[in-house]
Amino acid sequence: MALNHANALASLLGDEARVLTQPQIVHRLSRDFYWYSPVLRKQLDGKVGDLVVQPLNSAEIQEVLRYCHAHEVPVTARGAGTGNYGQAIPLHGGVVLDLARMDRIEAIRPDGVAVCQPGVRLGALETEARKSGWELRCYPSTIAKASVGGFLGGGSGGIGSVAHGGLRDFNTVRALEVVTMEVDPHVVSHEGEAVHEILHAWGTNGIITRIWLALAPAVEWSQCVVAFDEFDGAFDFSERIASDESWTKRLVTTFEWPIPSFFTPVKQYFPGGKSVIFFLIASDQLAKLESAATDARGTVTYSGTYHGLRTLPLLSDYTWNHTTLWALKTDPAYTYLQCGFDPLIVRDQMRRLRERFGDEILFHMEFMKNGTGQVIPGAIPLVYYTTEDRLNEMIAFCREIGVFVANPHVNNVEGGGRYRADNVQLLAKMRYDPKGLLNPGKMITFQPEKDVAETTSTR
Ligand code: FAD
Repeated sequence: MALNHANALASLLGDEARVLTQPQIVHRLSRDFYWYSPVLRKQLDGKVGDLVVQPLNSAEIQEVLRYCHAHEVPVTARGAGTGNYGQAIPLHGGVVLDLARMDRIEAIRPDGVAVCQPGVRLGALETEARKSGWELRCYPSTIAKASVGGFLGGGSGGIGSVAHGGLRDFNTVRALEVVTMEVDPHVVSHEGEAVHEILHAWGTNGIITRIWLALAPAVEWSQCVVAFDEFDGAFDFSERIASDESWTKRLVTTFEWPIPSFFTPVKQYFPGGKSVIFFLIASDQLAKLESAATDARGTVTYSGTYHGLRTLPLLSDYTWNHTTLWALKTDPAYTYLQCGFDPLIVRDQMRRLRERFGDEILFHMEFMKNGTGQVIPGAIPLVYYTTEDRLNEMIAFCREIGVFVANPHVNNVEGGGRYRADNVQLLAKMRYDPKGLLNPGKMITFQPEKDVAETTSTR
């Protein structure tokens, strides 16, 4: 059956080299980083697509989706497969739509908006933007590999978010085009507020084919590491710099010991037993930051200019969800949570978590601005995993004490914390994918047209 579809799709594209059926390749392109979660690992191991299709443009995507709609073949979009929640893993086989070949940057406009295809790597876009005096407002620590389309489909924010918020904030995603999954798939444009119908919907309600992304004026950055004897001192200093608008910064990340000991390639910058902060700070503020750190009883253990993604050491390689990767390399029992603390009671919240869970939770804080302009202490704490019940107990306790948790151990849009309460993502799915063939099983509040008809007729 898969072979029939492969042959038909190859003839539709007029290029059999872009329809891949070799089991090893299909398996590789059906994976992401779901294995960060011991819960998802159990659920998703062994899930795989039937074949991979690599379109070059939206006209080809329309043709592929027309065929798949007619034959009821599921389609799962794939950028670079660096998502953490099994977003890009097909639950019901079908076509993996690999968008890596749609990697054209159309323009870096003089008004600071990048126009590009979804398969462009974020790192390539950052490099291109900097040539014209612009840079990405925010990006995941996977910048070198991750695609723009995948970031919009499954990501949220990262480096830069301390100043510019996440992807959903401040009109950063100006507009996008999607191809719908219907009898006659068409290209629909979403602008302004309407982009939220598609953002972080995991490719369940349209294939993003063109993106208008707002940039920020480029800054000359420097990197700096400051160590503190106690986590409290490190947290206080990082919060002060993160919340003060007069500092131009791109990254403020705080780790309690022993997290820095996991970063083996840069271990020499971390005195044993100390908590550390990683900064990306405007170069013209570096000296001022170093002196403020010393005044706050911190020790600057590294500083140097940042000259792009090839800089060594590249501190961002140890931040955001790369931190979890380094911990997993040290001990595979580590996993993580994604939290938002309340700035007014964050110290009390951390104290209560420590009292209840001891070293089962290790604090890794990432400051980020929210949509109202307030900088909040976000966190991707490491969790020493024992059982699913214990993990759920920790999540429940966080919520009980007012810590927001976007649960990274669930494989559906609704459970992850970025689902829109106004259901706009679901409403778009009803319009654009009435049969429920786009990444099926990932938007669990959706009921396919056929099922709705059956339910109604038996009433
Ligand atoms: P994929 O994993 O390929 O796809 C993500 C989702 O988007 C899937 O559901 C897919 O179906 C959908 N999708 C892909 N392309 C399209 C398209 N064209 N149209 C519609 N849907 C599409 N995330 C953050 O937000 N911030 C971080 O700092 C961060 N750090 C990370 C660190 C590590 C080490 C790892 C492994 C992951 C991290 N992530 C982070 C998660 C992930 O890297 C990012 O979200 C990344 O932007 C995903 O891009 P991708 O191209 O790999 O997307």
